[in-house]
Amino acid sequence: MRVLDQRNLPDERPASMDESGRRVFIFPAPVSGFWRRARNIVEIFLIIFFLALPWIKIGGHQALLLNIGDRQFSIFGLTFWAHDAPLIFFIVAFLSIGLAFITAVWGRIWCGWGCPQTVFIDGVFRRLEYWIIGSHIQQRNLAKAPWNIKKFFKLSVLWTLFLVASLIIAHSFLAYFVGADNLVEMTQHNPYENWTIFLIMGFITAVILFDFGWFREQFCIIMCPYGRFQSVLMDDDSLTVSYDPARGEPRKGIVPEGQKQGDCIDCYKCVAVCPTGIDIREGLQLECIGCTACIDACDEVMEKIEKPKGLIRYATGSSLKGIKSKFFKPRVAIYTVLLVAVLSALIFSISNREDIVITVLRGKDSPYQVVENGEEIINHFKLHLKNQTFEDLNLKMAVPDIWKEKKVTLVSQSETINLDGGMNSTLHIFIKFPLSITGDEGSRNIKLDFIDTDDNKIKIQENVKLVGPKSI
Ligand code: SF4
Ligand code: SF4
Repeated sequence: MRVLDQRNLPDERPASMDESGRRVFIFPAPVSGFWRRARNIVEIFLIIFFLALPWIKIGGHQALLLNIGDRQFSIFGLTFWAHDAPLIFFIVAFLSIGLAFITAVWGRIWCGWGCPQTVFIDGVFRRLEYWIIGSHIQQRNLAKAPWNIKKFFKLSVLWTLFLVASLIIAHSFLAYFVGADNLVEMTQHNPYENWTIFLIMGFITAVILFDFGWFREQFCIIMCPYGRFQSVLMDDDSLTVSYDPARGEPRKGIVPEGQKQGDCIDCYKCVAVCPTGIDIREGLQLECIGCTACIDACDEVMEKIEKPKGLIRYATGSSLKGIKSKFFKPRVAIYTVLLVAVLSALIFSISNREDIVITVLRGKDSPYQVVENGEEIINHFKLHLKNQTFEDLNLKMAVPDIWKEKKVTLVSQSETINLDGGMNSTLHIFIKFPLSITGDEGSRNIKLDFIDTDDNKIKIQENVKLVGPKSI
């Protein structure tokens, strides 16, 4: 196994691969300090949040459900279907612009603090390694040691625990996509009865085990699409984990004659703790996930040599050059305007959203028929109903009493309309009314009641325009 020599980092390629592209393993040293403590708290919160969220119900619905198979979605009590295109568009646009905004202002804060990959590797998998194998030095020695009973035993225990952790994560992950209730039900049956889901579960577990247990920083460096976008989303005013060369250079060991040594004592502590194997003193690099480990490592060194902390710190490129950073730069202003616009559109769509959408179309035959010796008129309508909730609905149509008294009657294909959650239905209705209703104008707007048969309350009223002959 190739192991990274942190004092001899390559210039021309990521540290986690050798000249032939094979994997070089990184064993970052543990670190303590302010940022480590803050990250511990955030990680515990996020691990509980990520694992528990699909099992929590809000308003009777899963807190976050992305059931692509059944085209059912639920976000913190808001339920919608795949055909709710505007809503989905505004939610996706809000999240994408929000991420661009956060990146422009706070750099890779998502990667270092919020990304499930970072949170689970750092908060679970690395901790298991420290627990079962020991310090980073013991881990590195074990990796380089020839196979023997002790190595086999330790790695077997470690990978068994990795598998258990992957299974737990995979179950919660799948619950987001198939629904927690469905998943619980499926797990109580023979795998043969739900073999597709069983295979998907096995595949997700294997991917998590491979990624969090072995692939790790390679994913961030090689595969993560968000990581690729970083350079275009950030600029000199974005806040990043940075080394202050004006203060640190010339570092110990390379001080030109006549110059005063900077604060960096070239101890390589910041490199030793880096999970992606980079030297932050070389400037901002694509591999940096903003985990803050190097800040704590360097602060500890500065404390020991009695220099001010913050040689490595959160800073903008501008501030390191002595220029005042601008928060409201043009790109942030554009993102803010777009965020406000998309959020307003999202709120508007949610607040104007009905449980049922009914479209009334006039029948394709003649607009009206005159019957009963010219005394009565019949109009034909085609109704299209869409149930936007997850619940099944049973509706009955009725003409309001005010029109019933005027002898407006409804003739429908069926008494009740059964609309399963998320389903559409089309039906034809006929409305018969005396000629006097449309009068000389030849038209009259009335309402139709759609009554929920469960509680006998009007669920929605829909406008219908009756037409008849106009008097000349
Ligand atoms: S930890 Fe600080 S002092 Fe040590 S090499 Fe890194 S920047 Fe220099
Ligand atoms: S350079 Fe520092 S912040 Fe970036 S990944 Fe390495 S340790 Fe984390």
